Amino acid sequence: MLKFIIRNRAFTITIAVAVALTCALLAAVWHTSDRIEATEQAAWVGRAKAETARLTDQLISNIYKTEVNLRAISERFRATGSATPETFGALIAEAKKWDPDVRFLAVAFAERLTSDERAAVEAQGGVLTTLGSPNRRAPEADRSYAVRAVAPPNPLIRVGTDLASHPAFLATIKTAERLPGTTIIGPSFNGTEGDREFPIAVLSSLGEAPGVVVATLKLEPFFAATTQGQASSGIGLRLIEYDARAGTDPLRTAVIGDMEAPEGVRTEVIRISRGLASWALYWDISEEFQGGPNKNIEYITRYGGSILAVLLPAILAYLAIQSLRFKSQVREKTAELSRSAMIIQLTMDTIDQGFAVWNADHRLVVWSKRCLEFWYQPGPWLTAGTHMRDIFVHLANQGAFGEGDPEDIAQVELARVVGAGPQSEERFTMTDGRRVHVRRFPLDRGGHIAVYTDVTAQEKAIEEVSHARDEMEDMVRDRTRDLIVARDKAEQASHAKTRLLANVSHELRTPLNAIIGFSEMIGMRSNDDAVAEYAKNIKLAGEDLLSVVCDLLEISRVESGVAELDIEDVDIRDAVDGVFVLVSGAARGSGPTLVSSVAENLPPLRADPLRLKQILLNLIDNAIKFSAEDSVTEVSASLDHDGDMIIRVRDRGIGIQPEDLPRILEPFAQVQDIMSRTHEGIGLGLPLARSLTEMMEGKLSIASVPGEGTTVTLVFPATRVGRRAAPPPAEADRPGA
Ligand code: ADP
Repeated sequence: MLKFIIRNRAFTITIAVAVALTCALLAAVWHTSDRIEATEQAAWVGRAKAETARLTDQLISNIYKTEVNLRAISERFRATGSATPETFGALIAEAKKWDPDVRFLAVAFAERLTSDERAAVEAQGGVLTTLGSPNRRAPEADRSYAVRAVAPPNPLIRVGTDLASHPAFLATIKTAERLPGTTIIGPSFNGTEGDREFPIAVLSSLGEAPGVVVATLKLEPFFAATTQGQASSGIGLRLIEYDARAGTDPLRTAVIGDMEAPEGVRTEVIRISRGLASWALYWDISEEFQGGPNKNIEYITRYGGSILAVLLPAILAYLAIQSLRFKSQVREKTAELSRSAMIIQLTMDTIDQGFAVWNADHRLVVWSKRCLEFWYQPGPWLTAGTHMRDIFVHLANQGAFGEGDPEDIAQVELARVVGAGPQSEERFTMTDGRRVHVRRFPLDRGGHIAVYTDVTAQEKAIEEVSHARDEMEDMVRDRTRDLIVARDKAEQASHAKTRLLANVSHELRTPLNAIIGFSEMIGMRSNDDAVAEYAKNIKLAGEDLLSVVCDLLEISRVESGVAELDIEDVDIRDAVDGVFVLVSGAARGSGPTLVSSVAENLPPLRADPLRLKQILLNLIDNAIKFSAEDSVTEVSASLDHDGDMIIRVRDRGIGIQPEDLPRILEPFAQVQDIMSRTHEGIGLGLPLARSLTEMMEGKLSIASVPGEGTTVTLVFPATRVGRRAAPPPAEADRPGA
C-alpha cells in the first residue's frame, strides 16, 4: 500500500483534492452556522420582546384597574355621603372584593379647605397635622386637604392630616382637581416602612364639601404582582422612575433593581407615563429565557457539519484511493493473466496435439495452432466465438465428409457431436489419408475440451505389431505341433522300450529259473567237486541275473503304470526284522552290524508289504555293500510332529560324491568308486526304491557325505499311517475285576 501511495501521482492529486474539498466544506459549514446562529438569536429576541410587551400590557391593565377601582370608590363614597370610620371602612372592605388584584395600602377622603375654612376648623380644636409627622401642625398654604376618613388605619395618613403638607400628594391632588373624573397617579415617595409608595387621587365630595379620594400603593409589590407568576424565567424587571419636575434632564430613581443592567443580559426598555408618574420598564432578558437562543441547529450544523466536512472528503479520498489501488491491481492481474494465457497458448502450440476449448453453446473459446491443421486451415474468419457449425461447413467445403451440401453436412455433423456428448471420442481420416483421434473432456461449467492427436504413425505401428504377432503366432503354432509330434514319438518309443523290457524280462525269467534249477540239480548229483563248484557258481550267477530281471520287470511295470498295490497295515518293526534276516541269511561273509531302532508303539503303515520290504531290502543292501565290515548300519522309524512316518537307513560307509547324487536315482546309473568295483549292480536299486515309495505316496531323499556315510530317508504322509494297536489292558482295569 505504502509503495503504491509513494509512487502514485494520482494519489497525491486525490489527497490535494480531498484537502481542498475539506477546507471549502468547512468554510461553508461555518458560514451557514453563523447565519443560523444570527437567525436563532433574532427569533429568540423576537420572542423575548413579545413576552416583555405582553407583561407591559399586563402592567398597564393593572394601572387601569387600579384607577377604575379608585374612581368607583369615590363614586360610592360621594353617593353614601357619610365619612364615619365605620361606613368608610365598610366601603373600602367591599371595594377589595371588586377586584382582589387591587391592593391599596390605604384609602382616604380629604376635604378641601381654604385658609379661612382651615382657620375655622382649627379654631374648633381640629389642628391639621403634617403628613408623616402627626405632632407638627401643617404649614400654612392657600389650600389644605384635611383627611376626614381613612381605612384601613395608616401611620402616614391619619384623620386630620393635611395632604397638602406633602409635595407628592399635593401635586397629585392638584392635577386631579384640574381633571375632574380622572384618576391621577402621583410620583413615588418614601413610605413609613422605607418602601417606595405612590399616591393615586380622584376628585370627590362629601355632601356639599369638595374633596379628593386619595389612596396609596406600594410601588414594588404593585409591579411585582404584575409580573409574578406571569413572567417566564429569564426575564427580570428593573423599574426606573423619572421625575419630570427636574426638567430636561429628569431625575431617575431606581425603584426596583439597579440602575445598571446585570452582566450578560439584553435589556428592552419601555417607557410608560400615567398621571404624574413616569416610569421606564427595563426588561432584562438573560440567556435563561427559554434556554436562550436555540443553539441546537447551529451546533449540529457547525460541529456535525465540520465532522462531515472532514469525513466526507476523507471517505471520498479513501474510496478514490481504493479504486485507484483496485485499478492498479486489476492492471497487474490482467498483465499476469495475459502472461499466463500466453504461456498456456505457447504450451498448447508447442505440444504435438491440437487443443480446442468449446463453450456450452458449441462456440470456440481458445484453440491451439495445431488445430488449424486438422481444420484444413480456416481463414481469418475463425475467431473466439466461431460456432462449431461454421467449422463443419468449412470442413465439408474441403471435402472432409465427401459429396453433399456443406450446410446439410454441417448440420448432421453438429448433431452427431452434440449427441456424442462432452465425454466422447472418435477417429477420422483426413483427405490426405492422415488418421486423427479426437477425445472430448467435459468442463465443469459446461462446454468441453477437444484434444486432437495425429495417430497415423501410431496406427501404422500397431498394424505392424499385430502383423508381426500374427506371424509369430503362426510360428509358435507350427513349432508346438512339431514338438507334440516329437513328444508323441518319444512317448511311443519309451512305451515300446518299457514293453520290450517287460517282455524280455518275462521271457528271461523262465530260462533263468531253468538254469538255476538245473545247475542246482547238477551240483547235487555230480560227484566231481569241480563240476559241483561250477554248478554252484552258475546257480549264484543265475540267481543274481534273475534278481536283475525281476527288478527290471518291476521297474518297467511301475513306470508303465501297470503295477498294482496290495495295501494293508504293515508293522515296520516286523518288516525291518524280516529284511535283516534276509540280508544276514544271504550274507557272504560277515558284514556291518545292523541296528533296528523303530519307535516304541509305532502305528502301522498302510502299504504294500512286499514292496515296502523290497524298498528296505534295496536300501539296506546298498548300505551293507558300501560300508566297511566293522561299521554300523542303522534303520530307524518314527512319526514326526505332523504325524508323517519317517523311515531312515543310515550307514557309515564311503558316501556319495555330491555331483553323483542327482544321477543315481536315474535307472542304470552306476557310480564308479574304488569300493564299488568290488560290488555288482546295474543301478536299478535306488530308482526302483524311489518309484515304489512314490507309488505309495511317499518321498525318497538321499543325504550323503563322502567318506562319512549316507542316509536315505523315506517320508510317508500321515494319511498313510494306520491306527496304533491298543495296548493290552492292565489287570486292574478289567471290568468286574
Ligand atoms: P546298484 O544295483 O548298482 O547298487 P543302486 O541304484 O542301488 O544300484 O545304486 C546305484 C549306485 O549308488 C551304486 O552303484 C553306488 O555307487 C551308489 N550307492 C547306492 N547306495 C549307496 C550307499 N549306501 N553308499 C554309497 N554308495 C551308494
